[in-house]
Amino acid sequence: MIKVYVPTDNDNIDAYFNTKEASNDVSKINKKELDQIISLSLGNQFSDYEIIFENRSDGQYIIVETDLDKKWITLSADYTIKPGDTGSTNAYFAQFIPMAIAEYYLDQTVKHKSMELYLKGTTHNRAKTKAQQIYYRLAKTVGIKILNEFEFSTDIRRSIAFPFESIEEWKKARNQVSSTNRGNKPSYVIENDNSYVFYGKTFGANGRESIFILYVLANLALKEDKKIFLYEVTDNGTFAFESSTNEENQKFKRVLKDLNVVYYADSITYVENEEYENLSDENRDARYQAEFMRNLLYKYNCKRGDDGNVVLASNGKPVIVDDTKRCYLCHCDIQNLIIASHIHRVCDINKLEIPFKERRAMAVDGDNGLWLCSNHDKLFEYGLIYFENDKMIISDKLNEKQKRFVKSITFNTPKEEIEEKFAMVAEESEPYILDNSFHIDEKDYNESMHNYLEIHKNRVLK
Ligand SMILES: [Zn+2]
Repeated sequence: MIKVYVPTDNDNIDAYFNTKEASNDVSKINKKELDQIISLSLGNQFSDYEIIFENRSDGQYIIVETDLDKKWITLSADYTIKPGDTGSTNAYFAQFIPMAIAEYYLDQTVKHKSMELYLKGTTHNRAKTKAQQIYYRLAKTVGIKILNEFEFSTDIRRSIAFPFESIEEWKKARNQVSSTNRGNKPSYVIENDNSYVFYGKTFGANGRESIFILYVLANLALKEDKKIFLYEVTDNGTFAFESSTNEENQKFKRVLKDLNVVYYADSITYVENEEYENLSDENRDARYQAEFMRNLLYKYNCKRGDDGNVVLASNGKPVIVDDTKRCYLCHCDIQNLIIASHIHRVCDINKLEIPFKERRAMAVDGDNGLWLCSNHDKLFEYGLIYFENDKMIISDKLNEKQKRFVKSITFNTPKEEIEEKFAMVAEESEPYILDNSFHIDEKDYNESMHNYLEIHKNRVLK
């Protein structure tokens, strides 16, 4: 006998199937639509099923259980039901699906488990946006089948046909979409050599979306043999998700931990240094790369208005338009090669006899850093390049041929593209090489950065 588990108290599911009334009188259930979903899920090979009402409001999914299979079928919102309801992209299904994922993942059944998605109101624009299409592909990436995909036009079906093969592919697709709209993403991802750092909220509606994305990325990262560090973005500096005792959060945490997602919260930043907690303030390492990189994103990857000023989101933080790291001195964007490079080195900051808090503040200060490729990072580290105010100097330790090489790989953003911060040097145009003079963009150069550059210069010229 097929069993179908239906929540009684979920508002959307009640609206679709009349579950509140039907839990007292099962004949009141909207069986027509339920039949349709089950037949899409099982094929037409089902006779009858038993409906079991579950007393839950969370988790907008039903469970279909046969002798061999157990399926968690999430239902989307339906923006066509309420006239005038424009809805939001992630409130369509992305913020509902984590609950099904957690139950699916943690369920101990020996039956074959799977997740599916049934979309309501597929004619509504919100079901068809480019951003929504990316969510569909994310779902497919972890094997979530969309039962009624056929309701979409051929164009949409074609564009959502394939799962994402890599995190990079997903990032590109998403950055493309956000460059055409407001670009205010609730989460962003930095790729490092052996890991990714995921920055996002983990609570509220955006938090649910983050959990969904993290779940998919964690699966992709496992294939790449990389770890994901989760850096919670909060408005008040607390790490809500990490310490939450909320049952739902506990489940999400178990799933993510299983998939090798590591919290990059302050308390466990130094996974390589287990003694960290016991260190006294003066012996603490001020290094905190996750926050440093976040601040570099805020400085170099943010949206700027026509006046050149940083555009702030509603939470007062800069809007990050593109989470791709680019070398400040050559625009290289091969993610594995780009380093969050300190101007005033953390190993030197650690030697300063000032309170830990102040050392930490310097170590994470966006003005104390640049995204640099491996070449430029090493040139800078060894003092083969340094800055005289905003102007880059090539050290006389290099011979003429070596200096020419450094010049050839170092160029300012072409003037006509300065507003378009992220535009690459046009392929057909000559690289914009100024004779021995690279200048830091005036919108990035400030007193604080100047002071750090002076410290660097004094160190390397000593
Ligand atoms: Zn470079």
